[in-house]
Amino acid sequence: MTPATMRVRFAPSPTGTLHIGSARSALYNWLAARNAGAEGTYVLRIEDTDLERSTPENVEQALAVFRWLGLDWDEGPGVDGPYAPYFQSQRGEHYRAALAELVAAKRVYPCFCTREQLDADRSAQQAQQQPIVYAGRCRDLSEEEQQSRMASGAAYVMRFRADLAATTTFTDLILGELSFENALIGDTVIARQDGSPLYNFANVVDDAEMRITCVIRGNDHVSNTPKQIMLYEALGVDVPAFAHVPMILGPDGAKLSKRRHHTADVEQLAAAGYLPAAVRNGLALLGWNRDEQTTVMTTEELIKAFDITRVRKSPAAVDYDKLRHINAVHLRDLSAAAWADAYAAWRSEWIAEDDERYAAAWAAEPMTIATLIQEKVDVLSDVPALMEFLVEPFSMTEQAWERLGKSAEAPAVLERVDQILADLSDFSAVSIEHALRELCTQMELKPGKAFAPIRFAVTGRTVTPGLFECIEVLGRDRARDRIAQARTRLASVLAQ
Ligand code: GLU
Repeated sequence: MTPATMRVRFAPSPTGTLHIGSARSALYNWLAARNAGAEGTYVLRIEDTDLERSTPENVEQALAVFRWLGLDWDEGPGVDGPYAPYFQSQRGEHYRAALAELVAAKRVYPCFCTREQLDADRSAQQAQQQPIVYAGRCRDLSEEEQQSRMASGAAYVMRFRADLAATTTFTDLILGELSFENALIGDTVIARQDGSPLYNFANVVDDAEMRITCVIRGNDHVSNTPKQIMLYEALGVDVPAFAHVPMILGPDGAKLSKRRHHTADVEQLAAAGYLPAAVRNGLALLGWNRDEQTTVMTTEELIKAFDITRVRKSPAAVDYDKLRHINAVHLRDLSAAAWADAYAAWRSEWIAEDDERYAAAWAAEPMTIATLIQEKVDVLSDVPALMEFLVEPFSMTEQAWERLGKSAEAPAVLERVDQILADLSDFSAVSIEHALRELCTQMELKPGKAFAPIRFAVTGRTVTPGLFECIEVLGRDRARDRIAQARTRLASVLAQ
């Protein structure tokens, strides 16, 4: 069976940051296209008709997020393609031509109703508990009347003449069959007086001209779909398939928002140190899965298994613990070299320049650090805390010092450890462990009791990667120097 052509698009209005919900819609489009292989095309179209908010910086920021997410587009900004341009702000002539066609066919008429009239209509309809639809005042004005009002300079908009007796029905790939009585939708405004299109119209003209076969978008657009289908039909073009994906909720069940939920933006995930592959994995699972058991998937596996018709209808709640777990597994599955690259890339993007101390610690031994802490890292922003023990100048945290002071064994243990580290011929984690365990036996101490003060003294921290590995990485001189500092400090306290 040859796969059907799958031309899909993501059509963001670039307002700066990319919400997780939009990113998931973009991802579903991309997965649908990639799943169709050579028959699939992913188009990125920028709906930048709101010229105030759609600044070049915001467009660039949106594109940067898509690049970071790895959702490469086959047609769109920077790539172009057969239906260029892919910015709505540059497609004015296409909308004007389509509008002229509808005007000639008398499917569009000028509406001169004032804001006050429309408000009054609305209030009256509300009072009578009737649906809010355009009252039709300008629908049947004669051509002479239209001309004379225009000539007198009256302001107007362009309304689409719906077939009010009909019903618009479509079968959504996710929601199933949906029907809307056109009479409850009424005649909608599709263009301003200057001919510039409103969203529903520009969107239809573009999707038709760009030969989009399937529109995948958030289900907040469901009510636009019948209005758009009427326009496709009036223009005499093919109506695409529609797949409206469910909303994304926060972990508390409320609609996901930046104000309420700390991580509602892709950029925030990037800053926290999530990998693009893990974000693709986590976002894909918000509303879809391959099977009940599978959580962690590579992007190749997602592409192979993805099926837009299997997306669930009900809203999906973000589960940050699950996302973190997915990221941790993706990070652990990297080779040490790839892990080091991922960390270096994250660092250069997100760590403030002034934190040179971490840069120096990292630069000295990236691979050793990678091997040491990879297993312990869930998100890359965990790394600095795990690396703190390597940072110079060395300092002990309050907590570590307090716990060191409370350890009755500390003075004796540290004295012996200093000697052990001085004498050890093979300064490797394995032989350090061996020697320190032997010390426990000799001193008749449980490992927990003996190792805690060593950890506090040598790393200056209470939570660290493996103790023996830390000592190996620090090296004999640094480890002994820190033990000496701790002993001096302890002795001065004890002397008081
Ligand atoms: N620009 C619209 C939005 O960002 C596109 C909706 C659609 O995909 O049709 O909501």
